[in-house]
Amino acid sequence: MKFIRIDKKDWTKGIDTSRKTYQLFGPVKDENGCKIKELDADLAPDMDYHESVMSAKSVLFPQTETLLTANLDESVEDHHIMKRAKNEYTPRAVLGIRPYDAKAILLVKMNFDTPEYRDPYWCDAYEATTLVGLGITRPGPFDFSTSVGSGPFCEEGLDILMADLDDHYLAKVLTPKGEAYAAACGFDAAAAEKESQALFDILQLEAEKNITSRVETDKLKDKVLLDLHEAPFWDDIAFACINCGTCTYVCPTCWCFDIQDEAKQKQSSRFRNWDTCMSPLFTRHATGHNPRGAKVQRVRQRFMHKLKYFLDKYDQGIMCVGCGRCVKSCPVNIDIRKVAHTMNTFEKKD
Ligand code: SF4
Ligand code: SF4
Repeated sequence: MKFIRIDKKDWTKGIDTSRKTYQLFGPVKDENGCKIKELDADLAPDMDYHESVMSAKSVLFPQTETLLTANLDESVEDHHIMKRAKNEYTPRAVLGIRPYDAKAILLVKMNFDTPEYRDPYWCDAYEATTLVGLGITRPGPFDFSTSVGSGPFCEEGLDILMADLDDHYLAKVLTPKGEAYAAACGFDAAAAEKESQALFDILQLEAEKNITSRVETDKLKDKVLLDLHEAPFWDDIAFACINCGTCTYVCPTCWCFDIQDEAKQKQSSRFRNWDTCMSPLFTRHATGHNPRGAKVQRVRQRFMHKLKYFLDKYDQGIMCVGCGRCVKSCPVNIDIRKVAHTMNTFEKKD
């Protein structure tokens, strides 16, 4: 681990140099807010952004991704044989990713990269990706990351963590991937380790002091799963939900997807598209039967997955990094912090 000083006047030139070998992604503002998007050659990341509406999850898990293709031309020997699509996994770097979004990628990894099953598309994209984080010095009112094991300067999942110090960035290089990216940019001005770490500690403490929002999860592990599943409060929680799915699309830890086939002339493709457990179509079987046909079942599923099933399965905390996007974006003010409190304090009446 080492520290590097990057003068802001050298930042754009450095990341432009890295474009020779890296595809770049970063925060970009438009009329709909800030999103993490691919940075075309003439586009620099907006490193002064506050929060992004969408996280960086689409860098590894695109909204639409071709998985398999087949040639339908019967004159070709291997016609109708599905083969893995020739997706490119060139090195890529996500610049300015927030620490909670990098931690979210580690939670998603638990689903896509397991000892029993490895999703080759997600894993290949993950291997190709370097995460260059930017610490949060002004946490927003919806941020409750410190109570779920993340925080404004959390290093988990990051390859580099940077702090904005007005005229320069102080970068903490955390992994060999981070070292390779810094070298590709030509960022090599070493900063004193002890003083730099002390500065990071101060910034972290200051930022954490400004996070007052919290979520309660300490009793969830001991709750009986079926008691929570059958609890009477789900109707109240679900009442206002309009099943728009916004909370799941903006969430950096949600990974629901759907598979579609499409044929055009002599070419067939199989796609994976983002989907949402809040949609009745997500679980509707070909027979017409739907195990989660009622809204209350879908709302319960979302919160039970994040706050109970994931916790019970992996014992690594809840499936949430406290970014607050779902709370901020829900059009009817359904708030995961309140739901967690309700679940955490629930006692079954005999
Ligand atoms: S954003 Fe709110 S209304 Fe929309 S699906 Fe999620 S909880 Fe329901
Ligand atoms: S559940 Fe909400 S607060 Fe938690 S990571 Fe997802 S969007 Fe962020």
